[in-house]
Amino acid sequence: MPFEFATATRIIFGEGASASLPELARTFGTRFFVVTGATPDRASALISALDAVTFSIPGEPTVDLVRQGAQRAVQAGCDVIISIGGGSAIDAGKAIAALATNGGEPLDFLEVVGRGRSISIAPLPFIAVPTTAGTGSEVTRNAVLGSPEHGVKASMRSPMMLPRIALVDPELTWGLPLAVTARTGLDALTQLIEPYVSKRANPLVDPFCTQGIRLAAGALRRVYRDGSDREARRDMAQASLFGGLALANAGLGVVHGFASPLGGSFDAPHGALCAAILPHGMAVNLAALRARAPQHPALERYAAIARLLTGRADATADDGIAWVRTLCADLKVPPLRAWGISETDLARIVDEAARASSMQANPLPLTSDELLAVANAAL
Ligand code: NAD
Repeated sequence: MPFEFATATRIIFGEGASASLPELARTFGTRFFVVTGATPDRASALISALDAVTFSIPGEPTVDLVRQGAQRAVQAGCDVIISIGGGSAIDAGKAIAALATNGGEPLDFLEVVGRGRSISIAPLPFIAVPTTAGTGSEVTRNAVLGSPEHGVKASMRSPMMLPRIALVDPELTWGLPLAVTARTGLDALTQLIEPYVSKRANPLVDPFCTQGIRLAAGALRRVYRDGSDREARRDMAQASLFGGLALANAGLGVVHGFASPLGGSFDAPHGALCAAILPHGMAVNLAALRARAPQHPALERYAAIARLLTGRADATADDGIAWVRTLCADLKVPPLRAWGISETDLARIVDEAARASSMQANPLPLTSDELLAVANAAL
């Protein structure tokens, strides 16, 4: 199987690493455009030494928000884009950096629902500083944007969109609220499991998945019980980074396939959607593999995941799914219903999930009935 591996030009990891942001940023330019999440104050200490224009993303990014961001960055003559925040701020910054040089509309470039134009000009230099431990977006080549007119989230994607620097400082996650800790952490776990069983799984990515799954399995409950557990915060920041390295190079699967239309149609956080679907996506995949592809390597991989999650050498693939179910219950993951999703929405959601780019890497194609079973179980 051919494979490829690409990541951010530099990855810098460690407690306190974010203090070097101004110095690193000045190696790329002189006028900085800083994208933050809903609370820009959290970033102010990090950027006080820079001549920066700030732009805040109140929720997950949309095509309109990044269009506005790119216009402001160009008008202000900015030559470096920096994101300090969760996946929302990072994806917004990544898209803004690309639009600022390529021109045009986000929809020109968006996969699935857009016009399929490619990024052909190098984006402005982009530095990603994550403050959640979940998406790994600091090392991925895509920016996920909501397109309200289409009711889906889809990606702008190009290897040129990989950040120049991923500056991962676990200290920035110490203050993450409990619910955000849980759902972003479960997104990280999903992004380690899906690439490991993906159709595009590859030997360069596998070690990130196995090590990341082990780290997340050990740290998720700890960090939820005690947000001040610095070792567990560090493990989750690393697990999230490894998830990003994995998904960017091996793709995702059914869980993220659903997150695209669900996140585009309902006001629900990405991590919460992934967490609600994860055990059910795993269970339906496992049953489909057993029924239609009993020799598929993903079957043994689901058993390996179970051994990593449980720490037991005799764990079966089903034990792994049971472990994830219990974890989701312990971390109080609400069902899809909690976000206003109802049975009448599912037929459309299944249809769109089947077309989502993440779904294309699922270990095997699922039928509409199987997809409906995943959605019903998560409801
Ligand atoms: P987020 O960025 O939306 O942040 C969640 C909430 O936490 C926000 O209210 C934010 O303001 C707050 N927050 C962030 N850091 C904080 C901190 N240190 N302390 C207190 N509050 C903090 O959530 P996320 O899960 O990190 O990102 C979700 C987005 O990332 C979605 O749009 C999803 O589609 C996208 N995503 C992208 C990739 C990719 O590879 N590009 C991968 C996975 C997910």
